[in-house]
Amino acid sequence: MAWTDDKIKQLKKLWSKGKSTVEIAKELGISKNAVVGKVHRLELKNRPSPIKKKEGIARTPTAKKKQNMTLMDLRINSCRWPIGDPKEPHFHFCGADTALGKPYCPAHCKIAYTSLKELATQNAKAAESAQDSSAAEPQLTEKTDSTP
Ligand SMILES: [Zn+2]
Repeated sequence: MAWTDDKIKQLKKLWSKGKSTVEIAKELGISKNAVVGKVHRLELKNRPSPIKKKEGIARTPTAKKKQNMTLMDLRINSCRWPIGDPKEPHFHFCGADTALGKPYCPAHCKIAYTSLKELATQNAKAAESAQDSSAAEPQLTEKTDSTP
């Protein structure tokens, strides 16, 4: 379709009123893409756009909430698994739904359970080696018998 002077005038008028490209397209009886393209070519970008601002505000928090749960964001059934260093600004909690009766989500329960198990075996090994070294020590002190 061709842009007549009349249509361009109408476009500029509607644009300055703060109408959306969809609304302008409807009024001029053309496609939204045609309006967007013409607006771009005419460089009619400078106008207050409450629609765009609203969208920007609405989009950011939802994207952040999913990944960066702080202690304030946690619900009763939110996974309290800490992610990152508490000293860092990016520190947050997992925040996924917890396994029934557990403080963590199923995935983090698994990690917590495994590391506890590993810790127990490590402690057992440490206790064994401690016993070994203490058993070896008395042999050295037996020398005292040979001294007068
Ligand atoms: Zn989790």
